[in-house]
Amino acid sequence: MRNYQVAVIGGGPIGLYAASLLEKEHVVYHLFEAEENYGGQPLSLYPEKEVVDVSCFPAGPSKKIIEGLLSRLDESNLSNLSPIKSLEEKDDGVYLSFNDETIKADYLILATGLGFHKPRTMGLENEEKCSNILYSIKDFSILKGKRVAIFGGGDSALDWAKEISKISDHVSLIHRRTEWRGNPDTIKGCKLDIYLPYIPYSLTEKDGFCKEITIKNVTDETLKNLDVDYVLVNYGQVPSPSTFFLKLTDKGFGVLADERHLASKRIYAAGDCLYYENKKKRIEPGFEEVDVIVSDLLKRL
Ligand SMILES: Cc1cc2nc3c(=O)[nH]c(=O)nc-3n(C[C@H](O)[C@H](O)[C@H](O)COP(=O)(O)OP(=O)(O)OC[C@H]3O[C@@H](n4cnc5c(N)ncnc54)[C@H](O)[C@@H]3O)c2cc1C
Repeated sequence: MRNYQVAVIGGGPIGLYAASLLEKEHVVYHLFEAEENYGGQPLSLYPEKEVVDVSCFPAGPSKKIIEGLLSRLDESNLSNLSPIKSLEEKDDGVYLSFNDETIKADYLILATGLGFHKPRTMGLENEEKCSNILYSIKDFSILKGKRVAIFGGGDSALDWAKEISKISDHVSLIHRRTEWRGNPDTIKGCKLDIYLPYIPYSLTEKDGFCKEITIKNVTDETLKNLDVDYVLVNYGQVPSPSTFFLKLTDKGFGVLADERHLASKRIYAAGDCLYYENKKKRIEPGFEEVDVIVSDLLKRL
């Protein structure tokens, strides 16, 4: 089992800042980020907005703050696409579970902010059992010569359809409306079977694979079965709040902690997930919380 002095959950500005202080102090730590990109809200919600109120960074687009923080870190201490699913505090440390692995840390810093995003599913029975239903794809080559059904009508779904139609045996593109959300020019001239307006209706699962997917015409409710090797779903993302230690306060949900920002014996919290009287959900106050936490941690390690 991997063992660290400190684990940080969340790679937003506050988690990255915590990592930069731990790295400077040569603490054995690891940071876990649920999403592909580090940076939290500044990167996903306002990357180009000029941020003027973080005094240790010159005024500039928020993505520069994230780049600056990342440049201070050794990548081997960071893991993306690692949503922490559960945590348990025991006498000898904190145990974190993700992607079928459990790791142990002496101390934990929660910097989970507003939570992370996860892909929106089709909502079909047995969907979660099928390993050939994908919500993101890095390597198109696995689709070579396969029968692929793509669900979605935005630009990413149309981009997928274009690229995959070049290598796959047969591609069906299914969208619930009569109009695309993305630019239809993307798929002009591509070899595709297009189903508009259709929605996923049911699937046939065997041994962890989806063999066949049934789609339903939204207008006349007729059904159509598609034989598939892979199903790609591009329905966007839904927010998934990390509820560890969150309690309802008069200002919404937050982790309650003492003046050292310690929520329990071994677990600290900082940034937007931490709540106290007169709390400001901004970057600089979050950095100040991390300063308090790391100086406390250094005395305890
Ligand atoms: C539109 C807008 C403009 C803003 N402008 C400013 C500004 O000008 N100045 C300013 O100071 N503040 C600004 N803020 C506020 C600022 O963005 C937040 O205070 C800051 O992002 C909080 O950082 P954080 O790291 O605590 O949380 P977040 O930025 O929410 O990051 C949390 C990270 O934790 C990850 N995570 C969550 N759960 C898990 C899990 N279970 N496992 C692994 N990873 C997980 C998430 O994926 C995310 O990357 C703005 C906010 C908004 C919405």
